Amino acid sequence: MIITDTHTHLYSEAFNEDRHNMINRAIDTGVTRFFIPAIDSTYTASMFQLEKDFPEHIFLMMGLHPTHVKDNYLEELTHVEDMLSKRQFYAIGEIGIDLYWDQSTLEIQQKAFKHQIQLAKKYKLPIVIHCRAAFDEIFEVLETEKGDDLFGIFHCFTGTLEQAHQALSYNMKLGIGGVVTFKNGKIDQFLNQIDLEHIVLETDAPYLSPIPYRGKRNESAYIINVLEKLSDIYSKSVEDIAKITTRNSKDIFKI
Ligand SMILES: [Zn+2]
Repeated sequence: MIITDTHTHLYSEAFNEDRHNMINRAIDTGVTRFFIPAIDSTYTASMFQLEKDFPEHIFLMMGLHPTHVKDNYLEELTHVEDMLSKRQFYAIGEIGIDLYWDQSTLEIQQKAFKHQIQLAKKYKLPIVIHCRAAFDEIFEVLETEKGDDLFGIFHCFTGTLEQAHQALSYNMKLGIGGVVTFKNGKIDQFLNQIDLEHIVLETDAPYLSPIPYRGKRNESAYIINVLEKLSDIYSKSVEDIAKITTRNSKDIFKI
């Protein structure tokens, strides 16, 4: 069984004590493909180190996270462009709009999001979207950018069925993680109305641990709890869910 974690921050400080053991634990469970979203330039070196330590398992993205779009964002975007011109990445992410933490930066978040979508198109890469309290704002941008050259993942999808359909209409797959196991997570109520070909798995480790680890540090091995929940929702075996969602991840990341 090959399981793909399409969104995991393995370079996070939360793993400084046991990073290699934690990754090996996941590999032993069958999680052998890890896609690593970027946040800002301060993490780039540790992302490269991860890739060096686990070259067959680690696939890096490049991008500027919406909550890190600050006064220096143009500098940060130059770093993103510089990296993209130098080496291979598998997606532009994570990018998007987050109005939960800070609404005062909306305008520059929109600019950074659009600019990075242009970069994704230039390099023919998927985008990985971070959306928090900003569905309307995100959809507004996607509406102006939509087309065959726009595709990717709506990471940590937590919207309604209607919003799910709208995301799919922009060639996005839905990244499903720990929230699907939460009692008040809501997406478990309608997910079976979305074909499995549109779903990829993720942990967003170290955040958003699935039940029974909710509130604790998340790690990629816990994706098995998400798999089991999807197996219930879709009435399919865990093996089938792993196979289909890994195939979906290959469609997007081209690896
Ligand atoms: Zn993330």
